[in-house]
Parts: sequence; C-alpha cells; structure tokens
Amino acid sequence: MISADAALERLRKGNARFATDLSLRVTTRRKRRELASGQEPFAIVLGCSDSRVPAEIVFDQGLGDLFVIRVAGNIVAPSQIGSVEFAADRFKTRLVVVLGHSNCGAILATLEQLQRPSAEQSAGLRSIVDRIRPAVQDLLRSEQDHSGEALLGEAVRANIRLSANQLRHGSEILEHLIKREGLVVTGAEYSLETGVVTFFDGVPDSPP
Ligand SMILES: [Zn+2]
Repeated sequence: MISADAALERLRKGNARFATDLSLRVTTRRKRRELASGQEPFAIVLGCSDSRVPAEIVFDQGLGDLFVIRVAGNIVAPSQIGSVEFAADRFKTRLVVVLGHSNCGAILATLEQLQRPSAEQSAGLRSIVDRIRPAVQDLLRSEQDHSGEALLGEAVRANIRLSANQLRHGSEILEHLIKREGLVVTGAEYSLETGVVTFFDGVPDSPP
C-alpha cells in the first residue's frame, strides 16, 4: 500500500516531468500482461472530461497507476462517490485528487446560466450545472468585481473545493477511511497554459 504522502509526491514529480516535456511513458506488452490479473492504482483522480486534461498524461503515469473518474466539471454525484469508495476500499488507494482546470467550460456554462438564465439547457446538462451552482453563486453574490477571467478562476477553485468536501463528508465509508486509515482527499487545479498542477488544502509543498 502506498501512503497518501508518497502518492502525492509521485504525482508532483510526474507532473513536473510532463510540464517540462520529460515524459517517461512507454507502455509495453509485458506491463499490460502483468496488469491483466490485477491492479493496484496508487491514486484516485476525479477530473473533468475536458480533452486537454487527461489525468494519466498530465501526471505522467502509466497503465494501472491511476483510478480515474472523469465527468464534465469534476462534479460529485452518487456514481462518483461510489467509484471513489470502490477504489479506496478494494485497492487500498489512499490519495484522492479532485482535479479541476483553468478555463473549464462546465464552470463557464454555470456562470452564464446564473447571470443570464435561459430555458434552453437540456435536463442532462442542467444536472451538471445544478451541482456546480452552489460553489459559484456565493461568488456572484459577494462584492467582488465580476469581470470574466478572474471570476472564472475563482469559480473553478470554489467548485474543486466543493467537490473535495462532498467526497470528504458525503460517504460514511470515505469518512471512516479518512479518520482511521490515512485516506486523504485534496483539490488540485491544472493550468491549460503551463501544464502545471497546483495542489490545495494546505497539503505541504515538497521540500526544496
Ligand atoms: Zn472542464
């Protein structure tokens, strides 16, 4: 079993390789065959479906390394909680990362819907926007300047924190694993521009 700290360090190092064009990844037939009989992913990632943020690539990890759940806006609905519970319980994975990203279209759609409500959204899309809305509407109510880019950045981060909190407190199994078994849930934001992932929630930076 790999501890949450060690898992985080692996992700940090992998992302540093990715962001500087030093990827190590080659998937061999041997590795694939080895994994056919079982997996032991060292981190769980709940990320956005955006085509520019595939977790395995941005963390420079290979086959069998990450248990990844992707959904537009990295929202937490019951099936996401169930997926995290499954991996944490079955594979003893001890790190969960909620990975949002700059310029997220799902967050932008939510902001637009709150600022100029329209009835055109499909029920499916609305179910995503409804889960992002609680993170974003407090920002719109506050006194801050509501200009585009800064607001979108704040909204992206608020939504990551909301999803991380929902995972921490939305499941008895995960609460137990956090209290007793060293499970850590952290938020993180990926920058489309730089390729760098910034981890949140007071998780200490790696030593210099
Ligand atoms: Zn997105």
